[in-house]
Amino acid sequence: MPLLKGSIVPPRLPDPRSGLVLDTHELSRRAGTLKEVTRVAEAPADLGIEVIGVPPGSPVDLSLRLESVVEGVLVTGTAKVRLSGNCARCLDEISRTEEVDLQELFCYPGKELDDAEALRIEGELIDLEPVLRDAVVLDLPFTPLCRPDCAGLCPDCGANLNRDPDHGHAEPTDPRWAGLEGWTEPTNEPNNKE
Ligand SMILES: [Zn+2]
Ligand SMILES: [Zn+2]
Repeated sequence: MPLLKGSIVPPRLPDPRSGLVLDTHELSRRAGTLKEVTRVAEAPADLGIEVIGVPPGSPVDLSLRLESVVEGVLVTGTAKVRLSGNCARCLDEISRTEEVDLQELFCYPGKELDDAEALRIEGELIDLEPVLRDAVVLDLPFTPLCRPDCAGLCPDCGANLNRDPDHGHAEPTDPRWAGLEGWTEPTNEPNNKE
């Protein structure tokens, strides 16, 4: 399907069954009203980058504070997610938890500030998914490492040097030159006749 340039994506209504969708009804548009929300949501798909990310369906621990302001609802808090991926040096599996900070103003329709990217409250619901996505992806390392001093793999045989620090080869061959072994000067130059 061709993607039309400049076409407007119809607003996706938040799914109230999603743990990442919050109901703002109780805040009732009175500035200053507060609501604390702690819950465990399921991680959405594609939350991460190619090398490391949050497994879909894994628990996302949300600890949030919803505050009614004039323009809408200000959400601040944290999300604890599971990260899983592979070390960029030794390819070992990486599995750890990470806490990211969330802060976003969701505007009532028609009360958006100048920011065209402003998120909106749709039918008293706010969808945290894009906020979580931005926070997690910005927090991810481009080259994830199993530990800061990961020794990586032996360039000759691929052995994991973390597990075998004394690893070595009797006659190390630099693989960059290996292809040149047995290579001789071409002999089709014109002979120098005196
Ligand atoms: Zn590693
Ligand atoms: Zn080796």
